[in-house]
Amino acid sequence: MFVRDWLSGNNIVLKSRDACVVVDSGYGKHVPLTLALIASRMGLDGRTLAKLVNTHCHSDHMGGNAAIRRAYGCPIAVPEGEVPLIASWDERALLLGYADQRAELFSVDEILRANTTEIWGDLEWRLLAAPGHDMAALVFFNEEHGILITGDALWENGYGIVMPPEIDPRALPATQATLEMIGKLDVRCVIPGHGEPFADVEAALDRAFRRTKAFAAEPLRMARHALRVLLMFTLLDREQMALASLPEYISRVGVYADFNALFFRLPPASLAEQLVVDLERAGVVRRDGGVLTPASNLVH
Ligand SMILES: [Zn+2]
Repeated sequence: MFVRDWLSGNNIVLKSRDACVVVDSGYGKHVPLTLALIASRMGLDGRTLAKLVNTHCHSDHMGGNAAIRRAYGCPIAVPEGEVPLIASWDERALLLGYADQRAELFSVDEILRANTTEIWGDLEWRLLAAPGHDMAALVFFNEEHGILITGDALWENGYGIVMPPEIDPRALPATQATLEMIGKLDVRCVIPGHGEPFADVEAALDRAFRRTKAFAAEPLRMARHALRVLLMFTLLDREQMALASLPEYISRVGVYADFNALFFRLPPASLAEQLVVDLERAGVVRRDGGVLTPASNLVH
């Protein structure tokens, strides 16, 4: 696997004797690196890419889909629930334009269905529904070795943003149910969508359950967390943002405008300032003159 960063989800290459399957394709901006990493791991012995599959269809996991298909001519398989969203290229449901993120358009060749089994990289993978962060997401479980590929359903410390109940009442209960489902599996190693693989699944689930409980108690905190994560993503994408542009940005980009109207009801400049202060306190951004940049240790 290739441990990537926040902008690109990890890529996993499942190798077999004659062909490989790649799981997730990173963010569009990082396509050249993604292609180079995959080519290096496929080796020089002519192994072909049999298929590209997505755990779910967010920009940091499907952003390289179109480019990988151009390079290898391989079919693309996505979870069943993502198929209509990809077909209509629903910029809101896919958190693309709605969150100021981008991905190159692609079409779906194969559908991944929950509770079915696939052979990828000479291993058997059970596809399991993992709704919450993305209501259509799947996780992939190899029982023989206890390997679970989780996408953004479970990280070592938390999971991908979840929509507050006011936006999608199904999301938080689904997150809880997905964590409980993972807790029943005999997992020895999690390969998450972001961060290093980890073995202490129990501790990760513990942290995730605590987060879910805190979110359920405080929807406002949940909404602010989501905006903070999305703003950080955009900052990493753009590499810098003029502080003076943030109020206009927050009024213009759908998810910020909607969340502000629903949860905060603040002048855009106040909400922008709150988010920047939150990110500063977390040590992930700095103000440099009139410019906001990612803290240097986050730049890849
Ligand atoms: Zn995601």
